[in-house]
Amino acid sequence: MRLSFVLCHLSLVYLHSPLVRTSDKGQMTAKSSSFILLLMRILVVEDEAKMAAFIKRGLEEEGIAVDVAADGYEGLFRASSGNYDLIILDLTLPLMDGLEICQRLRHNHISIPILLLTARDSVEMKVQGLDSGADDYLTKPFAFAELLARIRALRRRDRAQVNLQLQIGDLLLDPLTRRVTRSGRPIELTSKEFALLECFMRHPDQVMSRTLLAEKVWNETFDSFTNVIDVYVNYLRNKIDRDFSPKLIYTVRGAGYVLRRPQTNAEALDHQS
Ligand code: CA
Repeated sequence: MRLSFVLCHLSLVYLHSPLVRTSDKGQMTAKSSSFILLLMRILVVEDEAKMAAFIKRGLEEEGIAVDVAADGYEGLFRASSGNYDLIILDLTLPLMDGLEICQRLRHNHISIPILLLTARDSVEMKVQGLDSGADDYLTKPFAFAELLARIRALRRRDRAQVNLQLQIGDLLLDPLTRRVTRSGRPIELTSKEFALLECFMRHPDQVMSRTLLAEKVWNETFDSFTNVIDVYVNYLRNKIDRDFSPKLIYTVRGAGYVLRRPQTNAEALDHQS
């Protein structure tokens, strides 16, 4: 009696684990491969409500946070926010098509992984999509398992790049050694300053709101926290900007902060070498 209670209790715990789900056929499947998908936030840009709901529901069952944009303008606006880890982008959309969104994002140096959905299985469309800056494509109709596999592959590729050295002008940041230099001079940063700078350098030329920085660097969401961010951005400016030119971190009144690539990027590199 007691043993069966324990077993029942254990199986309840098992069922409620976020990594264990019941499949459509009622069989339990341990989704260890889904570890890589945890804590992801994905933007789905799709005007067909049924398809958008299908993708959203499926991804949410995997523990992924999902937002949907139903037209091209909203898609581009949201995709530019720096809020997402990946974009699932339909090709044919009202107001602005998927190819143009890809091109505009890449033109603005937004390097977020893009998975293109296309209704047409034509080589020409795929080539055009990849040339526009998409990382992969999937032809509709698709099996949900294939969509997940593509997302996992893109996520792995993106994570592999996470360890690469970042460079904006003469400012260098090495995520592995945690070393920062500007014009070849070592800069000592505290761990929070380092995390803040890394966040800026991964989203150059994108305005980062205080709320977004609070979420990404401090894992905080409450508004009263934003003063702390102002203080830390000032610390960071004193270390990476005060004694150097050009300035890299700018305040955008009413919006937040942005780390801008210097226009003379190539010249700055020449001076350094
Ligand atoms: Ca469509």
